[in-house]
Amino acid sequence: MKAEKDILKKTRYFVIDMDGTFYLGDKLLPGALSFIEKLSATGRDYLFFTNNSSHSVESCRKKLAAMGFAAPENKIVISSHVAAEYLDRNFAGKSVYLLGNRELYDCFTARGIRLTADSPDAVVLGFDTELTYERIKKAANFISDGAAFIATHPDVNCPVQGGFMPDVGSMIELFAASTGKRPKVVGKPMTETVDYITGMLNCGRDELAFVGDRLETDIAIAVNHKIPSALVFSGVTSPEQYDASRLKSSIAVEGIGALAAYL
Ligand SMILES: [Mg+2]
Repeated sequence: MKAEKDILKKTRYFVIDMDGTFYLGDKLLPGALSFIEKLSATGRDYLFFTNNSSHSVESCRKKLAAMGFAAPENKIVISSHVAAEYLDRNFAGKSVYLLGNRELYDCFTARGIRLTADSPDAVVLGFDTELTYERIKKAANFISDGAAFIATHPDVNCPVQGGFMPDVGSMIELFAASTGKRPKVVGKPMTETVDYITGMLNCGRDELAFVGDRLETDIAIAVNHKIPSALVFSGVTSPEQYDASRLKSSIAVEGIGALAAYL
């Protein structure tokens, strides 16, 4: 335990995934609340980061509140925020065709991004659970005609009650097959997300640790940027899958409750 405690010695901010890490379905996972309490008791802080761009900060807060956890607005970050910042930096004032839910539209509009349905400079692929064939067709033609192509996150499937549904990563393959073009991806595990978080918290990479249930996003972002990480087995990754994986986290525990012992 001493060696493991050393891993998190410099960590000031825990970047915690939500689904499968902090809660599952509509219930907080065991020890989730006491983990947050232990963070503040040991002088650390946290941030939730989810790749799921079909949610807004408000809908995440509502969901957490219904489970008994009051999360301040500034503690919730979504891959859509990183995409909006990427647009600000690289496509300031340019027009965007957005594939996304109403919540994503509202997020982009609030940030002053100019949305259009005609000849956009860029197409942004978010997690659009109301996507129609007509809009797939439009987006594919815009991309093919030379619009920049940006995706909020790479997750292939999103776990839902009783199974899963295809997520942005699957749509990326559809557009790649159709247009021959692949997007710039910005959520976990990409560098844009690390830079967004360190910029927002005004801290160094070495002051972060990532906590999550998915190897190819939550853990890969940490490994790729030499940041400590904790994998939890309460979500999409089983201990057997982890044993077989080449991607290794700094710490692997049953759940977020067990992680408190490492603080
Ligand atoms: Mg998760």
